[in-house]
Amino acid sequence: MEKKTNQFKAEIAEMLDLVVNSLYSKKEIFLRELVSNASDAIDRAKYLSLTQKDLAADNPEWSIEVAVDKTSGTMMITDNGIGMDADDLENNLGTIASSGTKAFRKALKEKGGEALPELIGQFGVGFYAAFMVADKVRVVTKKRGTSAAFQWESDMTGGYTISDAERADYGTSIMLHMREDQKEYLDYWRVSDLVKKYSDFIAYPIRFRTVDVPADEKDEDRKRREEREAKPMNTMVALWKRNRKDVKDDEYAEFYKHLTHDYDGPFETIPFSGEGAVEFKALLFIPKKPSMELFMPQQKRGLSLYVRNVFIGDDIEMLLPTWLRFVKGVVDSSDLPLNVSREMLQDDAVIAKIKSAVTSKVLSVLEDLKKKGERYDEFFGAFGTVLKEGVHVDWEHADRIKKLLKYPTARTDAGKRVFLEDYVKDMAPDQKDIYYIVAEREDDARRAPQLEKARKHGCDVLLFCDPVDEYLTESFREFDGKRLVDIAKGDVQFGSEAEQKAEKEANEKAAGELKGFIDTVKKQLEKEVADVRVSTRLTDSPCCLVAKEYAMSPSMVRMMRAMKQDVPDEKRILELNAGHPLVKKVASLTGDAQADAVTLLYDSALIAEGSPVADGAKFSKLVAELMLK
Ligand code: ADP
Repeated sequence: MEKKTNQFKAEIAEMLDLVVNSLYSKKEIFLRELVSNASDAIDRAKYLSLTQKDLAADNPEWSIEVAVDKTSGTMMITDNGIGMDADDLENNLGTIASSGTKAFRKALKEKGGEALPELIGQFGVGFYAAFMVADKVRVVTKKRGTSAAFQWESDMTGGYTISDAERADYGTSIMLHMREDQKEYLDYWRVSDLVKKYSDFIAYPIRFRTVDVPADEKDEDRKRREEREAKPMNTMVALWKRNRKDVKDDEYAEFYKHLTHDYDGPFETIPFSGEGAVEFKALLFIPKKPSMELFMPQQKRGLSLYVRNVFIGDDIEMLLPTWLRFVKGVVDSSDLPLNVSREMLQDDAVIAKIKSAVTSKVLSVLEDLKKKGERYDEFFGAFGTVLKEGVHVDWEHADRIKKLLKYPTARTDAGKRVFLEDYVKDMAPDQKDIYYIVAEREDDARRAPQLEKARKHGCDVLLFCDPVDEYLTESFREFDGKRLVDIAKGDVQFGSEAEQKAEKEANEKAAGELKGFIDTVKKQLEKEVADVRVSTRLTDSPCCLVAKEYAMSPSMVRMMRAMKQDVPDEKRILELNAGHPLVKKVASLTGDAQADAVTLLYDSALIAEGSPVADGAKFSKLVAELMLK
């Protein structure tokens, strides 16, 4: 092929610029990234050769080599994995996967150079970390199943070139021409320390080789060198096969970073093994915070699967329910055939059993965590929203999940949440149902007039302010044998039976007295409301709007409309507080004065719940007039 020179795509150029100018001290991570890529390439070759035997006809010892030449100041990392052809080089090393491009640039702009190593991992551009320590990088590679070798070369500033190359073996070599001030990485001890620190668990031997052996090397030096170069620098023991007590937290953390590219490290590490019906080993992690794509429909999710030490694939979603999609990790089972494909996994009984065991394990870890107060709150703040989905989609685990949910209530301070059990424990003596109110923001919920009566009767109210909460109410009908009741809907009664009876009578009486007024209001607001009646839920506010029992809340309607859904206007009920002086006053007015006062009363009910008034201009005019009076 002709030698081609290309410019990097804008986002890569931008990133490379930061790489060079980065003052980041941990330039050493370049080695982890390149070794990690080498290991992935071998994983892929090994997996593909299960079905395409001739891909591994050379029957190699799968391995990685770090060859160092102090004389020329270079380091070469070689693997005998899958390799790349010219197109692969172009696509893999000249661009960032297009889906991530925009997000990457945005994050780069927002976070700047300090966050670079973290971003490099997150966006799968680890290869470019090489430029932290090298001013020139050359990749020479031959793809398994093809016969031509190619070379990719770049000094960063002038774009990159792709051309033909010579190479006998399959696989890839990354040659780094080290920067003047980065030569420390050409030392055996430095390299082997880095391998132990970051890549000990890599499943293939990583060996060191000295290229520029001095001609006059002493015999005993040669012997010592040959001995240490024959041995792998890593122990290669899969972490999930080791006992927890033998593994340091740091080792788990490094493995987590290798797996997820999340440089923050894990929040919780969960090693466990399944015994009995299906035998497997698993190493699961709960991250500290949600990844950027947790709420994207196309996001990758699931666990990595190994069968008898062979990597089958990552993002195997059949291993996790959707509502645990924030969990990362590895499952290794010997009860599956080696030649499984993703399609076969779909309805494999072994996979289903592993999924069930994994689900149960994570739930029990969360149940333990629940006893740890603030630490649980940290978890729930990050992933509560995802966990909640389980109540809706997973009837088998819904009861366990419900016990893990926390909500703010009318009584809690802002930012605090309570478990449903605690809510139930604190229920008023006469209270039969669990009350909730739906609103977009906690502040709005706390101010809602519908809370007044509940408060007066000593009943607390859950505040459903997470967008999924309302959607959840469809399936979240009860907890601990108690109904969940929306206090802003239908007919809600508080207090003992005697109190309810007395209140009902008082209401009927008030309604009788106000009948003429109520009829007038009904007529005036005919287009806006379905009915006007005397309220049982207000103490301090003059009026409020309530939905019929099975109607959507105003925030849900707004959300659906924002998503371009066609939601018909459903008229609601205007409830008047018969004992309120303002209501009495308006009832005593006549003519236009009364009509204007009714308009204001209705508008204030809309404003109180965060809805816009129907006619803003008229509203301001009436308020202005009122103020003048
Ligand atoms: P990531 O590894 O996260 O995808 P990188 O920038 O590190 O991102 O690498 C980009 C791509 O280049 C990889 O996905 C892989 O397809 C290819 N690649 C990198 N190193 C190797 C290698 N040693 N052998 C084969 N392919 C490689």
